[in-house]
Amino acid sequence: MFPPNNSTPPQPPGDQNNKQPNGNGGGLPPKSPFSGVPRWSWLILLGVLLLWSVFRVPDMVNSFSQDAPIDVPYSFFYSQVATGNVGEVVLQEQSATGAFRSATTFPPDGSELLQQGVQQQTSTTFTTTLLPVDDPALTTALRENNVTVTAQTIEPNQLLIFLLNWGPLLLIFGLIIWQTRRAQRQMGGVFGFGRTQAREYNTERPQIKFADVAGQQTAKSELAEIVDFLKEPEKYIALGARIPRGVLLIGPPGTGKTLLARAVAGEANVAFFSISASEFVEMFVGVGASRVRDLFAKAKAAAPSIVFIDEIDAVGRQRGAGLGGGNDEREQTLNQMLSEMDGFDQNESVIVMAATNRPDVLDPALLRPGRFDRQVTVALPDRSGREDTLKVHTRGKPLGDDVSLVELSKATIGFSGADLANLANEAALTAARHNRKRIVMNDFLDAFDRIVLGNQSPPLSNLQERRVVAYHEAGHAMVAALTPHADPVLKVTIVPRGQALGVTAMLPNDDRRNYPRNYLLAQMMVMLGGRASEEVMLDDITTGASDDLRRVTGMARRMVSQFGMSDAIGPLNFGEDERQPFLGYSLSQSRSYSEETAAQIDNEVRRIVDDLYERTKTLLSQNRDKLEALTQELLTNEVVTRTKVMEIAGEAANQSQLPADIFENAGA
Ligand code: ADP
Ligand code: ZN
Ligand code: MG
Repeated sequence: MFPPNNSTPPQPPGDQNNKQPNGNGGGLPPKSPFSGVPRWSWLILLGVLLLWSVFRVPDMVNSFSQDAPIDVPYSFFYSQVATGNVGEVVLQEQSATGAFRSATTFPPDGSELLQQGVQQQTSTTFTTTLLPVDDPALTTALRENNVTVTAQTIEPNQLLIFLLNWGPLLLIFGLIIWQTRRAQRQMGGVFGFGRTQAREYNTERPQIKFADVAGQQTAKSELAEIVDFLKEPEKYIALGARIPRGVLLIGPPGTGKTLLARAVAGEANVAFFSISASEFVEMFVGVGASRVRDLFAKAKAAAPSIVFIDEIDAVGRQRGAGLGGGNDEREQTLNQMLSEMDGFDQNESVIVMAATNRPDVLDPALLRPGRFDRQVTVALPDRSGREDTLKVHTRGKPLGDDVSLVELSKATIGFSGADLANLANEAALTAARHNRKRIVMNDFLDAFDRIVLGNQSPPLSNLQERRVVAYHEAGHAMVAALTPHADPVLKVTIVPRGQALGVTAMLPNDDRRNYPRNYLLAQMMVMLGGRASEEVMLDDITTGASDDLRRVTGMARRMVSQFGMSDAIGPLNFGEDERQPFLGYSLSQSRSYSEETAAQIDNEVRRIVDDLYERTKTLLSQNRDKLEALTQELLTNEVVTRTKVMEIAGEAANQSQLPADIFENAGA
């Protein structure tokens, strides 16, 4: 029930998890579900069908014809023989077929079987099942009544016998061959190793240029040298200059790392080989490494060229860390990559570029000179960067006169390039939905809401719940309005968005990289505002605050144990970094401080949160009327914007005490 807002600028939803394909990695062509079945298995199927029809169809045809033989019990058959009604009979081992002298009905009139619902049938022929024991009486009766008796042995069907004997064996062989073939295909061929029919990396000559990448001036100027080297390697080789082998692009997702790498290739007009490192990891042991070898061999053959490894943290993680399985493969792949990079001839003009948003987990060996020693930071765009990005992505889209990219760039703090591209696209979609010829500002604002607040969910039907959510969100917003240093409120809504029942969106200060203690404390009060409001204004409290509480607690702990912001603990960092690369690593690490310190930290965290919560409650109790006014406004309008919130806060806005004195009476 709280906006994406923490010590870091908001990460609009759908951003982090969004691994854009970016043309990396060759997808397998779509497969038909039958393509793995060899052709001869169809022949077998056909054969079985044929046999079945040979055996079954005549029976079926018989049963439809007028004079189908009736199936009679042995006793009835015997009585018919005894009364002289049977003209001829063909005896087989277990059954007999034959003809009556005159058309006969079974069951006969008046039989009990009729009451049991057995249908009467009339025919001149019959079949019956013989007794499992010899019946001498039958033989006598047959002879006495002059019945023509034919005996028949069953001719065993040779083909059937062959199939019965060999069929299962053949089937098993077929299955084994089929399975092996399939496994081979998945492994990329036991004999072909990395060279599968499927392309495992992309080769292209990108046409995009630096001009297509908005902002990122620093990154571009660092990369210009690389472009120059790829264009005229001789110039550098003649001077004996050592050109960086590897360039590591570091930055949050969606900031244009992949785009920049392709632009380097586009500017230099060289071949671009790209692969996503996470794809190595999925593979069977040994294949990841051979793919690397293969990739580098191709790149060398096409030099000058660029090899681009996306998400390198997937393979480049510190070796020897992590739990069990999969690491072997990663290590082999990584080792192969390192040795390929070492193996470069000084004169080979192949540049390896890689991208990551987790440089902290990379293996130090990757960052050594001669490997990825050139690191380029690709940061989230600043205001003018955002404006440029919007310009790039609205190029060729008809814009209404009221659209101001400058205003939009001011409102989209914390957006990455990909978010901005998404914003422009969503706005165009909205305009199309309204059958407009041009995209107007409202379309952008709609799209903005969807990205920042999440998609609208159906409104709350439970009035009591709606009231609780309104008080909760009004609490966040009112605390934000009243507390100095807190981020200003952008919008409050009680229309459910995504998973949240209500949202208070904040507009953080642009370009903030370094967070003062006052700011963190103010933000924590805002997060506590929801629960505090429930407690001050309602009879009971709800579960709606759980996420707020989790974040407040986490923040307090970091302030104490990492940022050295608590006077009681002092300027120490206990390195309990929540960004542990992965489970195994943190498990293998023992805590580096005493139980006593741990208890002290816990106490201090508790004190800070408790104290802030009391303050927040006091602040809201003192401004009950404003909180109530904002809640009513929310209940009637569902959405309240910044102007209205500030109007309700009135004189009191940002007038409350600074929370920093929380540390001054520490221990008192
Ligand atoms: P990353 O690799 O850093 O996660 P991408 O390069 O894949 O990000 O960017 C995803 C998309 O976002 C790009 O295809 C592009 O449309 C857009 N984008 C990101 N940064 C920029 C930028 N600086 N200029 C223009 N478009 C950008
Ligand atoms: Zn909340
Ligand atoms: Mg990328």
